[in-house]
Amino acid sequence: MSIRFDAIVIGTGQAGPPLAARLAGTGRKTAVVERRRFGGTCVNTGCMPTKTMVASARAIHVARRGGEFGFTLNGTIQVDVPRVRARRDEVVRASTEGIERWMKGTANITVFEGHARFTGPHRVAVNGEAIEAPEIFINVGGRALVPDMPGVGDVPHLTNASLLALEDLPSHLVVVGGSYVGLEFAQIYRRLGSRVTVVERGDRLISREDEDVSTTLQQVLEQEGIAFRLSATCISLVRDPEGVAVGVDCASGAPTVKGSHVLLAVGRRPNTDDLGVDAAGVAVDKRGFVVVDDQCRTNVPGIWAVGECNGHGAFTHTAYNDYEIVAANLLDGDPRTISDRIPCYALFTDPPVGRVGMTTQEARTSGRRVLVGERPMTKVSRAREMGETSGFMRALIDADSRQLLGAVVFGVSGDEVVHSLVDIMYAKAPYTTITRAMHIHPTISELIPTMLQELRPL
Ligand SMILES: Cc1cc2nc3c(=O)[nH]c(=O)nc-3n(C[C@H](O)[C@H](O)[C@H](O)COP(=O)(O)OP(=O)(O)OC[C@H]3O[C@@H](n4cnc5c(N)ncnc54)[C@H](O)[C@@H]3O)c2cc1C
Repeated sequence: MSIRFDAIVIGTGQAGPPLAARLAGTGRKTAVVERRRFGGTCVNTGCMPTKTMVASARAIHVARRGGEFGFTLNGTIQVDVPRVRARRDEVVRASTEGIERWMKGTANITVFEGHARFTGPHRVAVNGEAIEAPEIFINVGGRALVPDMPGVGDVPHLTNASLLALEDLPSHLVVVGGSYVGLEFAQIYRRLGSRVTVVERGDRLISREDEDVSTTLQQVLEQEGIAFRLSATCISLVRDPEGVAVGVDCASGAPTVKGSHVLLAVGRRPNTDDLGVDAAGVAVDKRGFVVVDDQCRTNVPGIWAVGECNGHGAFTHTAYNDYEIVAANLLDGDPRTISDRIPCYALFTDPPVGRVGMTTQEARTSGRRVLVGERPMTKVSRAREMGETSGFMRALIDADSRQLLGAVVFGVSGDEVVHSLVDIMYAKAPYTTITRAMHIHPTISELIPTMLQELRPL
């Protein structure tokens, strides 16, 4: 016998809870299944704990620069790691408990705490019970990819989740992976007091970004004492009296980096391997991502996949946007689509990298006539006043349509400032809308009109 619902939501990441609340609000009897902590990756092992630690790390960094700003502290700065963790855990706890209360306290929602597995197209097993519904929404997210590198089975290694659970500060953290997750952790732990070495297979960091973003960020992080080993081919792990030895170049005699701990930050994989997708007939691609159409529908009628598990974005905002797309189509008669959205994200190093749309390289190969405007942060008075002059901003314009193609704001507040460019892209307005706008002085954003007044062909 199975319990019948109108809708089942599997996973309480960034799309599941708001979707469940909307469905329940329409009177649908809705089951919500969560196998771990409410709120998923972002709240528990992703955005929220890391950004809380970014804030601690920045405060410590600014305190160390006290002399520049005109103050001294008595004695050296002592980092209280348990306090950093406690502050972080408090922020996370409030959020995860809030989501749990929300789900358990919403009329028409029944929460099941356990692992959900499909046993048929519209039937799911959880904790030995069978539940079924004509509408099922998969929001199972992803987890750290542990690559099949030599030694990985024999040597203790950390992922984002286990590093956050670690009580002690690593004396020397070796970060394998010079991309978004790895670089945020590298800077956090360096500022907390660890030695940090980043090992990257490619010949530059964050290879999806423009080369000058990669090199400038590397310089910023090197100034803080982070070491880099780029072009590290055939990375391997070996136990070592110090903790772990990371082989970085098998081709030329396997030099190693020795550290106390190693973090693997080389990508994510979807949590679809133990979901019973075969029993449901739900198609996944060869990496395990659920195949969906432009409105998050799977190949099985009545089953949707939202968030990171559908492979159309690895961010909290893309997961939340998936919820909005499904709710709009299913409940509001509004045909929103994934392809309506403009890619945007930030790398939350200090300074952060705010990004929207195309990179320079993508604009160059797009076949369009492109104009570019650039400005270094050294020529932004607010940045100079704040003593934060690393980085630059750049915008790319289609010379014919006069619309923005993409932008990077790499500098203090870049994660916020980039939104004025995100919004103008959604408005499909010409860039001249901004060049004529009066912005507030002194801000980082005030130089965006100026940058756009000084365009040159790419
Ligand atoms: C270190 C780190 C930092 C990050 N920082 C940012 C950031 O700053 N900004 C940003 O936008 N993104 C960030 N991300 C990415 C972001 O966290 C994810 O993209 C986002 O959480 C994905 O949301 P989701 O809803 O798809 O799934 P998730 O948040 O992963 O949630 C999925 C949920 O489903 C549950 N679940 C899985 N399988 C089952 C099952 N079979 N039965 C029951 N429950 C199940 C899981 O327990 C989990 O609670 C970061 C990620 C990491 C790792």
